[in-house]
Amino acid sequence: MIKCTVCLTENDDFAITCPSCKAFLQDRIPNLDLFDMGWRVLESPRKAFRTITIADHKNYALLLFTLFGISLSFTGFWYFRLGTQFASLLDLMPAAVGVGIILGLVASVLITVVYYAFAKLFGGASGFRGSLGVLGYCLTPIALSLFIVLPIELLTFGMFLFTSNPSPYAIKPVSYMLLVGFDVMISLWSIALAVLGTHVGHRISMMKSIVVVLATLGVFFGGLLLVAQQLHLTDRV
Ligand SMILES: [Zn+2]
Repeated sequence: MIKCTVCLTENDDFAITCPSCKAFLQDRIPNLDLFDMGWRVLESPRKAFRTITIADHKNYALLLFTLFGISLSFTGFWYFRLGTQFASLLDLMPAAVGVGIILGLVASVLITVVYYAFAKLFGGASGFRGSLGVLGYCLTPIALSLFIVLPIELLTFGMFLFTSNPSPYAIKPVSYMLLVGFDVMISLWSIALAVLGTHVGHRISMMKSIVVVLATLGVFFGGLLLVAQQLHLTDRV
């Protein structure tokens, strides 16, 4: 709670102005800087999510979702062994990036709608845009790994990353397990950030935040699996 210094009303922690007397309670945060906020989300996430929730504009949230979509697309191309559909990595990459951009933009709306609904169900206080901002920035580790881990994977395995003949595991088992393990850790990091971001942004308990995030992930990946089935991608695994 923030006490108004003018009229002594107790106000919500995230209120910028006092509803009773219109006095300023804390500085407005008009915009978010991608690199500054991205770094702060990794370094001191609790403070960062507070700033993101208060900020007027949730700058770069859609960009972070787009990078997440591209990362997800490459994961799909790997998981469903889509390399067989392309002559070379140079053909595959633009396709994976193109699918990823669409996937990311669709995901930004769908994930936020589902997340926002679950958060409200558990008494969440943040709005739709606040939810979008927090979710976007919790994708920072995944967005970052797109520029670090994916290039290493592509340089190490090339097309073999997306085919099963031979499988990338058979070529370089240690590198493969390390890189896959790293990807899993990065994803878990983003999920942990989403839980903390929900706790801070929506001001609900950690337990409820975990349920909200896991329920959202369940609906989103369940939906993706249904789409993959419709496209007969699941027959390929
Ligand atoms: Zn006041």
